Amino acid sequence: MTKRSAAEKMLLTFSALAAIAISPFVYLRWLDGDMVMASIDAALVVVTAVFFVFVYFTRKVNTAKLAFTIFLSLAIVTIVVIRGQSHLFWLYPAIISFYYILPVRPASIICFIAIMVIAITLLPITGTLEFLTISLTLSLTAVFSYIIFDNYDKTNSKLALLASIDPLTSSGNRRALDQTLENIIADQKRAASNVSLLLLDLDHFKKINDDYGHANGDIVLVELVALIQKHSRSMDALYRYGGEEFIILPLKVDVTEAKQVAEKLRALVEKTTFSDDIPVTVSIGIAQYRQGETAEAWISRADAALYLAKDNGRNCVVVEKIVAEKAS
Ligand code: GH3
Ligand code: MG
Ligand code: MG
Repeated sequence: MTKRSAAEKMLLTFSALAAIAISPFVYLRWLDGDMVMASIDAALVVVTAVFFVFVYFTRKVNTAKLAFTIFLSLAIVTIVVIRGQSHLFWLYPAIISFYYILPVRPASIICFIAIMVIAITLLPITGTLEFLTISLTLSLTAVFSYIIFDNYDKTNSKLALLASIDPLTSSGNRRALDQTLENIIADQKRAASNVSLLLLDLDHFKKINDDYGHANGDIVLVELVALIQKHSRSMDALYRYGGEEFIILPLKVDVTEAKQVAEKLRALVEKTTFSDDIPVTVSIGIAQYRQGETAEAWISRADAALYLAKDNGRNCVVVEKIVAEKAS
């Protein structure tokens, strides 16, 4: 089982804490003889507990988040409508939590509807000043939450992108590669399928640096990545594995098909002119994932194939020797 995400842990904690925190109120309301509120609180405890179980077993986080938020807003609005505005205070922290749980757009829709229902209910029974104060403070809480969380989401996406791309070539970096490999291996544990890995290395790159300068070497790397990204299938991703070595993943094909893809790529690089008319060729090693192996073992099999490609004179594609290795 893959690790639980931060969102999943947050939902589990949130629903468990809510169930525990509301439980005493069921008893207190019941002692007070307030059966309506006791029933509402009891329903809240049951629903939050069900949410906990739902998230724990199904791990459908997005569905749970939306359902949880809609349910919480409905519960608070219902209590305010039935029991009056003293219960309105719950809506302020709830609005902030909606923006924390959901993306800003659905959170805004839910807040807008909740505030409208409250405003329509309170309009005939409160004074103008009080009505305006309530509507305005609720709306401002929503607006400020929107601004803060929108900013927070954008910064997070930017940071996540920066943390996963290679600054020179904009391909995926080692961190992104490790994450993808971890995900693929977890998927393979659940349901095995064909996945191949291409390990690509520029031929005589040291000589390119020596002959044309390091800066031109950098340009070659940038142009190579752009070329591969332009021509590879949308479901394949490119990662910089080391200096002038790249990995293409996840090729959801067996080695025979992966070899055709690699051969096309190799020929494409050979016929392309790079910065300053630099002739560039690449060697590619291919390995198909074997059940139960680690990412390191998978890459090292592709590396062994790449080593053979270099040995064969470079500018060629070599597939791991499945039959020979299986026999040994
Ligand atoms: P081979 O065909 O056997 O792969 O030969 P090679 O010269 O490509 O192999 P080697 O691994 O010996 O050299 C790799 C070179 O790549 C050495 C290093 O200076 C260069 N290199 C690594 N990262 C960068 C980079 O970011 N920019 C530039 N310009 N060169 C780099
Ligand atoms: Mg190398
Ligand atoms: Mg090289």
